[in-house]
Amino acid sequence: MTAIAPIIVGKEAIAELLAYCQQHNLRDLVLVADRNTYAALGERVERALREQGYAPVTILLEGEEVIADEATCINVLVRAPARPQTYLAVGSGTITDIVRFVSHRSRNPFLSLPTAPSVDGYTSNGAPLVLGGVKITVDAQPPQAIFADLPTLQAAPEPLIAAGFGDLLGKTTSVADWRLGALLWGEDYDEAIAARTERAYRECLRHVEAIRRREEAGIRALIEGLIESGLCILDFGRSHPASGSEHHASHYWEMTLLQQGRPAILHGAKVGVASRHIAGYYARLRSISRQEAFARIERASRPDPEAEIAAIREAYGPLAETIIRGHGEFLQLSEAAFVDLKRRVIERWDAVQEIAAEVLPPDEIARLLSAVGGPVNGQQLGLVEEEVQRGLHYGHYLRSRFTITKMFHLFGLGE
Ligand SMILES: [Zn+2]
Repeated sequence: MTAIAPIIVGKEAIAELLAYCQQHNLRDLVLVADRNTYAALGERVERALREQGYAPVTILLEGEEVIADEATCINVLVRAPARPQTYLAVGSGTITDIVRFVSHRSRNPFLSLPTAPSVDGYTSNGAPLVLGGVKITVDAQPPQAIFADLPTLQAAPEPLIAAGFGDLLGKTTSVADWRLGALLWGEDYDEAIAARTERAYRECLRHVEAIRRREEAGIRALIEGLIESGLCILDFGRSHPASGSEHHASHYWEMTLLQQGRPAILHGAKVGVASRHIAGYYARLRSISRQEAFARIERASRPDPEAEIAAIREAYGPLAETIIRGHGEFLQLSEAAFVDLKRRVIERWDAVQEIAAEVLPPDEIARLLSAVGGPVNGQQLGLVEEEVQRGLHYGHYLRSRFTITKMFHLFGLGE
C-alpha cells in the first residue's frame, strides 16, 4: 500500500497543511502556482504560512496556458533555492506534474494542493512532460501528502470538473480492458485493485446531480474517486487499472494536436468522449451473436507484420520507430500463437461477455457527461470525425496491451 499520508479532503485543508508543516518541522517551502491557481488557493496558502512565521518562496508561472515542458521545468528549478526544500504544488494536473518532476530530480519531497477535481493523476509517480514537442512520461514521484481544500475544488471552472468526471467515467472501459487482457492475453491482474477502481467510479455515479450543482458531497465523491483511482495505479505499479483503450485514443488525439501546434484539450474531456466510443465497442460485443462472433474469429487471419508496421508509420510519423520497438509482442505474433489466441477467445466467450456486461452503455455515458456540462463527442472537443476515427483505429498501437480495440482489430469484430 502507498505511503501518501495524510490525504485530506475537506474545509480545513489549509489548517491541516500548517499542522503538517509544524509537525514535520518543515521550514524551507517553495510554493509553485500559476496565475489562476494562485488566485484560487495559492495566495491564501501563502498568507496562512506567513502568518505562522514561515517564509515560503513563491514561484508564479506566467502565461495563460502553462505547459509541462523543458523550459518550464528549468524555470522552476532555477528559481527554487538550492538548499533542501519541500515543494507545494498548488494547481491541477500540469502544475502537479511539473513539481513532481522537479522535486524528484532535485531530491526534495512535495505536497499536493489540488485546485480542481480534474484528473486522477495527483498521486502518480510518473510525470507526463512535453519534451521536444512530444509527450513522454518520465519517472518522478508521488506527493508525500495531499491537502485538498473542498471549497476551492467546488469553485473550480466547470470544464475542469467535467474533465475529472470524464477521466473517472473512463474507468468503466479501462477496467474492462484490463480484465479482457488478463483473461485472453495473460496480463498481470489484481482483482482487488480492479474492484477498488470500479467502486471509485460507481460511487461517483451516485452523485452526478450533486457534482453538477457543485455541492460538497458531489465534489468530495469526485475528488475521492479520482484519488482512489490514482492510488490503484500506484498500488498496482502500472497504469492498467485506470487506463485502457479510451486513454490510448485520447493520447493519440493529444499527439495529433501537439504535432499540429493546436491548443491542448483537457485530458479528462478527451477520455470521457473516447470512453463513450469504446463503450460502443463493448455494446457491439454484447449484441453480436455467438455464432457470428465465432465465424468472424475463425475467418480472421494473422495480421501481416509488414502491413502493421506500414500502418504504424503512417499513423505515427516521427514516433513510429519507438512504437514499433515497443510493440514486438504483437508484431512478432506467430501463426501458432494466433491460433491459440483464437481458441482462447472462443473457449472463454462467456467470460468475455461477463466483462462486457459490466461496461456502461455508450448512451448512458453521453447522458452522464452532458449532465455535468462535459463534451460528449469529437466535434465538441474540436476534433473532426476523421481524427476521432484515427484515434480509435490507431490508438491501440501505443501500448503493448490486449484491449478491446486490439481484439476488434485482430478479429474484425467491429465491422
Ligand atoms: Zn486519465
